[in-house]
Amino acid sequence: SWQLMISLMILWAVFGSFIYLFHTLLKQNKLGVLRKAFVNNLTHELRTPVTTVSVALQALEDSNDQVSDKIRLYDIAREELEHLSCMIDKVLQIAEDEHLITKKLIFEEYDLIALIDKCVSSARLHNHQDNIKIIFTPQYETLFLYGDSHHMRNVITNLIENAIKYGADQVQVYLQVAKEDQVTLSVQDNGIGIKSAYHEQVFEPFFRVPQGDLYTVKGFGLGLAYVQQIVNQHGGSIKLKSELHEGSTFTVTIPKKIKK
Ligand code: ADP
Repeated sequence: SWQLMISLMILWAVFGSFIYLFHTLLKQNKLGVLRKAFVNNLTHELRTPVTTVSVALQALEDSNDQVSDKIRLYDIAREELEHLSCMIDKVLQIAEDEHLITKKLIFEEYDLIALIDKCVSSARLHNHQDNIKIIFTPQYETLFLYGDSHHMRNVITNLIENAIKYGADQVQVYLQVAKEDQVTLSVQDNGIGIKSAYHEQVFEPFFRVPQGDLYTVKGFGLGLAYVQQIVNQHGGSIKLKSELHEGSTFTVTIPKKIKK
């Protein structure tokens, strides 16, 4: 069907551009920090969504006319493509920091509360296990800011996903927004926590806290580097408060330039 063709074409384009970028990075060898672990992780992270999309598309082709089945399969494929696109943004951002490419953010007015709501709903959809609770009860109905909402969405999603990935048995993620001279967004978890010795390093590209189960938790140490870069490009900053076994709180502070 034509939907299948379009989906496959999108998938191919996304995958192709990732491989192209990766090749360029390797060839220019400007990312001195490229490590074996990174390549392994990247391969794994890329293969998983690609396989999922392929399987979903195949099932879609084979499925009978059950509309609900089709919608579910489309949802899976779409979500996995979003996930891929988010990973590509991370790598692109790092490539930009290394001056391998130039990219501009697109600033426009957006509602931070609505954006967080979207991230929370999507994270709940991905993590529907009973032991995972994502709590966001905003005190404001709307909070208009000026920024790149696409990248800000990735920022929020990264922080929520980390809170879950490095969580305890019962995961509780609290999101809070406060508005004073500046706007702050904090993402607090009750997870494994981070020793203070690593508080600065976690924001460096490719750094992952050395832990016994490091390789069972997927990731390639780019999320927080990307998050910090995007926040900085919004004139803001990010702080970490955490202790080992005591959970972590990441607080993003961004200047309030409310256009209203
Ligand atoms: P990734 O999760 O892909 O490894 P990140 O850049 O997002 O990369 O995070 C860097 C490292 O910081 C992680 O590998 C992990 O060790 C640590 N970390 C990040 N977020 C948390 C968190 N919420 N709780 C505990 N550790 C965290």
